[in-house]
Amino acid sequence: MQNQARVVWEQRWHPLREEWVLYSSHRGGRPWIGDTHAPQEESAPSYDPTCALCPGNKRLTGANPRYEGAYCFTNDLPPFSNEAPAPLEADDFYSALQVAGTAEVICYHPDHAKTWVDLTDEEVLAVVELWRERTQELGARPEIDHVLIFENKGSLVGTSNPHPHGQIYAGNLIYGHTAREVQSSQKYFERTGRLLGQEIVERELAGPRVIAQNESFLACVPWFARYAYEVLILPRRQMASITDPDERERTNLGLMIREVATRYDNLWQMPMPYVMAIHQAPTDGQEYPAFPFHIEFHPPLRKPDTMKYLAGPEIGGGSMTNESNPDEKAAELRAVSPIHYKSNSQ
Ligand SMILES: [Zn+2]
Repeated sequence: MQNQARVVWEQRWHPLREEWVLYSSHRGGRPWIGDTHAPQEESAPSYDPTCALCPGNKRLTGANPRYEGAYCFTNDLPPFSNEAPAPLEADDFYSALQVAGTAEVICYHPDHAKTWVDLTDEEVLAVVELWRERTQELGARPEIDHVLIFENKGSLVGTSNPHPHGQIYAGNLIYGHTAREVQSSQKYFERTGRLLGQEIVERELAGPRVIAQNESFLACVPWFARYAYEVLILPRRQMASITDPDERERTNLGLMIREVATRYDNLWQMPMPYVMAIHQAPTDGQEYPAFPFHIEFHPPLRKPDTMKYLAGPEIGGGSMTNESNPDEKAAELRAVSPIHYKSNSQ
């Protein structure tokens, strides 16, 4: 790209969240005397007798069956449950709401050592199918307004257990980013008659930030990225939820996630930590035809040994600073191989 070394020092409008993001890419290489993290090669055994997610092992309540594919169970300590107590005290000012719903854990694979990058085509599809089934079933329950599917990967985002898994929080709460996206997509449609998600797809396809694509989805570091290596997976046609793609598109979604995970690992030849979240329309009984279904990856690292710390401007001030140029970060992720560095064949 021509403008690879271009400094981005400006504010950019985040069209999904409707907020300004501050870019100061000239600060990315500043002297750093804070914490660094040794790039760790996480090598785990295929089965760990102490892992609460491995097949056959005991959990806090009960035990896992000897499952063979993707496997889903109710979280032993769910943040959402229909058994939550009534609020202790509440009034019009300090208002509170009784919690309802459920939370589930999805093991992607029985093998403790695998991650997305190791799954076969059939295995990635199996995970996507389970997401779809769970969203359909949980979303149909009257007390569940939103099904949030996410994955925390790596110890830097607080996951001590490497067993490949993600989670579902489904309750009487529409999570904040999704609530914002409901608003932003609705407003955009009313103002322009156009779909916000498809507008972003069009812009990104025309720009230098696409890192991978297939006939159904594309992956990009968006123009408005909040994190250095943030990636969005967007559908090439309007979809509001994981229940919208057909089987071929679901396969393509699984393959796209695997490619993103592979490119991440190849970037620094180490397992890349991230928070992944699936943003899909609420299930509160209303229609959201303009909602922009997409998957977000937020990696906490800006260099192999350096975290993007959320501090004064982010935690204290409430606005994100990105010390990088999204065009450059996309070029880095595009330049690495789509074949995992640890795989000999494939
Ligand atoms: Zn395990």
